Amino acid sequence: MRFVKRRTARRTAALLIAGAVCAGAAGCGLSGGHGGSPGRSGKPSRSSSAGKTAGKTAGKDSGKETGRSGSEHGGADRHDKGGGGHSGSHPHGKDPLRGKVIVIDPGHNPRNRDQPDKISRSVDIGTGKKECDTTGTATNSGYSEAEFTLALAHRVRTELRKRGATVKFTHDGEEPYGPCVDERAKKGNRAHADAAVSLHADGAPGGSRGFHVILPASVHRGDADTRAVAGPSRRLGTDLRDAFRKATGTRPANYLGNGEGLDTRDDLGGLNLSTVPKVFLECGNMRDAADAALLTSRKWREKAARGVADGITAFLT
Ligand SMILES: [Zn+2]
Repeated sequence: MRFVKRRTARRTAALLIAGAVCAGAAGCGLSGGHGGSPGRSGKPSRSSSAGKTAGKTAGKDSGKETGRSGSEHGGADRHDKGGGGHSGSHPHGKDPLRGKVIVIDPGHNPRNRDQPDKISRSVDIGTGKKECDTTGTATNSGYSEAEFTLALAHRVRTELRKRGATVKFTHDGEEPYGPCVDERAKKGNRAHADAAVSLHADGAPGGSRGFHVILPASVHRGDADTRAVAGPSRRLGTDLRDAFRKATGTRPANYLGNGEGLDTRDDLGGLNLSTVPKVFLECGNMRDAADAALLTSRKWREKAARGVADGITAFLT
């Protein structure tokens, strides 16, 4: 999730709500979303302990779905394992993504809440400093963004594999926290991903509805240099927006991006430090009851996963 500076009042309200739900978890209120820095919350973070996690997640990717405890999640995983599937909804033949490497970044980590000190440490994102990671937001009934992003990521992986892609995760909930936002970006870079998508859900006030895609601004500062990937990332983001809207039937956010479902930012480590085409997808607003009803629905997540996979497929084929 994230908030935008220009909506200071809204943001403040949202943070207050988030604080009520996440009481006690450091970083939750303020950074509720993506890594929140005081300026703009909701960003992802990356960190740099990269190497080993990458290997680990890559290994895991080739094998089984991880069994997570979360109720939502368990069910989704079981379902994913079935394989089979997605026949024919894409027009590019049986394995349109064969040979392609796709990195999926499930935003936040359900265990972040237990490591407030570790996730709050600063990492360099080129245009400034950011918290390593944040807890993310949650629905009013307590379904966390971090559980949502993992559940959706597993479904997306299943869809992409059916189309022949190699899929890598930045994490699969196995880490005690994070990874930090800078590391999340570096994992995509090391994988030489053809496309990378970071999955999130927003934490705006109730009444703010819909999904949006966050695109990297063209920045060149410190370790951040997105000049070569800003254009391709915009194409990826536009394809993703179109496919997500079609697959889910939901509308672009009514509270930012002029209703176009696209927002460009230079304050997210996960985007700033990426050297491969990468975008964030904010699937909906967890704090809005109507959006929350979708986000907590397994059936809706199936559609959402297909939308994500369709968007990536359109970009890469
Ligand atoms: Zn988030």
